[in-house]
Amino acid sequence: MTLLRGLVLLSLCLASGQSAGDQPAPAGSQNAPCPLLSVNDPVQRDRLLYHTCYLSQPTDLGDWRQITPAQLPAQLKWQASNGEQLAFPRSQLEYWIRLNLKNDGPTPGFWYLALDYAPVDYVSFTLHRANGSSVIETGDQRPFDARGIDYRYYLVPISLNAGEAATLYLRLSSQGALNLPLSLLTPDELVAQSNTLTLTHGLFYGALIIFALFNLLLFISSGTRYYFFNAFYMASLGLFLFAMGGFAYQHLWPGSPWLANTAVPLSMALCALAINLFGRSFLQVRRQSPLTSRLMTAQTGIACGLLVLALALPYNHAIAIITVAALALICSLFFIGVIRWRQGHSHAKWYVLSWSLMVLGTLTYALAAFGYIPDFLQQEMIMQSAIGGQVLLLNYAIVQRWRDMQKRLWLAENRAKMRLEREVAERTTQLQDAMRDLEAANQRLEALSTRDSLTGLHNRRYLDGRLTELIREAHRHLRPLALVVLDADHFKRINDHYGHAVGDLCLRHIADELKHAVHRPQDVVARFGGEEFALLLPDTDLAGAQRVTNQFLQRLASCPAGQREGLHIPLTLSAGVALLQADETQAQLFERADSALYRAKAGGRNQLVVAGNTPAPVGTATNRNRE
Ligand code: GH3
Ligand code: MG
Ligand code: MG
Repeated sequence: MTLLRGLVLLSLCLASGQSAGDQPAPAGSQNAPCPLLSVNDPVQRDRLLYHTCYLSQPTDLGDWRQITPAQLPAQLKWQASNGEQLAFPRSQLEYWIRLNLKNDGPTPGFWYLALDYAPVDYVSFTLHRANGSSVIETGDQRPFDARGIDYRYYLVPISLNAGEAATLYLRLSSQGALNLPLSLLTPDELVAQSNTLTLTHGLFYGALIIFALFNLLLFISSGTRYYFFNAFYMASLGLFLFAMGGFAYQHLWPGSPWLANTAVPLSMALCALAINLFGRSFLQVRRQSPLTSRLMTAQTGIACGLLVLALALPYNHAIAIITVAALALICSLFFIGVIRWRQGHSHAKWYVLSWSLMVLGTLTYALAAFGYIPDFLQQEMIMQSAIGGQVLLLNYAIVQRWRDMQKRLWLAENRAKMRLEREVAERTTQLQDAMRDLEAANQRLEALSTRDSLTGLHNRRYLDGRLTELIREAHRHLRPLALVVLDADHFKRINDHYGHAVGDLCLRHIADELKHAVHRPQDVVARFGGEEFALLLPDTDLAGAQRVTNQFLQRLASCPAGQREGLHIPLTLSAGVALLQADETQAQLFERADSALYRAKAGGRNQLVVAGNTPAPVGTATNRNRE
């Protein structure tokens, strides 16, 4: 408010003034322009400004406070206010206001003259009556208890007997601009007006305190700085309005006229500091815009300098400098807000909007304060509403920023989650592929480790493992199991005669014939030594095993090896067959089959010998073949 009063003061110095104080005083008698006001008439009381007249004089007339109304120089001309606002932007002048009053009623009465403008340095009220004068000397350069009535603005009690007339003189002087919203009220009207104002002020300051505390708590719980700066701003703004409204002087420091005057520029400088710190933190200029950040750091320095000036300089100088600096600061913050908004920070929109509301409200107030638009008190309410709106929008901007942040956080989290899921899926597929490859490799390895590389038949290792399993199963299910061991006859001679390569070829030929000899999938054909082979025949009794072996021997006899290569190598094998006996071990079974083979060799080769089976064979009732 003071800020814009200062602004308008500047503009008024440039342009010709429209307010009452700047108009030349017309010639006229001392009483002529001040029509008598009948205090009983509410209409006339409402139109008080049509009954006031005023004069302004330069300060070089001497100490005006020593001059009584009767001592005023006769050549000074009173000027009728004609219903215009009493607004005086020139602080180098002193002002007098006169009001002729009369009680036209049949009974004595009591009224109050109210001057609803607290920051007046010196004001004296002289009520001049036929039986003498009463004087109240007050103003915020004097201690608060100098006021007749303990109230935040000025109240003058006026008591008039029936038919009595009186003249009320106001003498005013202030280092700042003056706005004089005067009203004449009955005690009832004063109480009613005061009640309404108490309610609106209570709501306003209450809301401000709650917002400030809420932001402070948010700062304490979250550590986010702009909550603190917002609380700081609202506290400074509250202090400024409290000081301007006269509340601070009445309630906080009634004994200190110095503080009453310093509080306004000081709280303005605090506001400037707070809004700058808030804007800097809220608009995230530090991280994203180094140039703007440097500008705002400089502004913070300037705001700190203003604090010192507010304490050190006289009021009129301090207020002028702080007003201009604060204006520059507001403009700068406003434009930074707009730039951030255009850069895509949606919460900056609400920030800019809140400042626009603030500027509009204070402009309205300032225009009213200097009489450009009517009804100062009404405009003061509008300005307070604008500040309320600004505070609300500023807090809404904070909520918006919080939402933006949450949204960005959520998006980032989601993106990270999706990336993670994708990576996990990729890794799982890779792992599954690797597992499959590994399994295939294992299978190949397993096959390699259980196969004989020359013939492709199972090897000794496989034969041993499989024999153990099949013996266990045969015992468990009481099923027969036959083992045939075979050895090529005089194979050394073949090697010696044809060479090892042909020997190998013969071994492969024997393997092929053996494979042809068995038909069941569970039958095992193995090469377990150089020219030694085995048939493992589950669920096969001796007769079956003999049949298979004999068929093989016969086929081999009719089918010599090496025919494709143009050779004709007759091959014979000797074989021993044994049927698994009850409780017989693998070694015992093998030994019996082997000894049968030995006997086959001894018996002339190229024959099958059945091993003797001492105990009862597994899965058979009798021993059918004996050695
Ligand atoms: P017998 O009828 O008594 O079994 O006489 P044999 O000559 O077959 O018996 P011996 O055990 O004395 O000889 C086996 C021969 O088998 C020795 C070796 O030259 C031959 N032999 C063993 N393994 C292989 C092989 O992998 N390839 C070839 N070409 N010959 C082999
Ligand atoms: Mg042999
Ligand atoms: Mg041998």
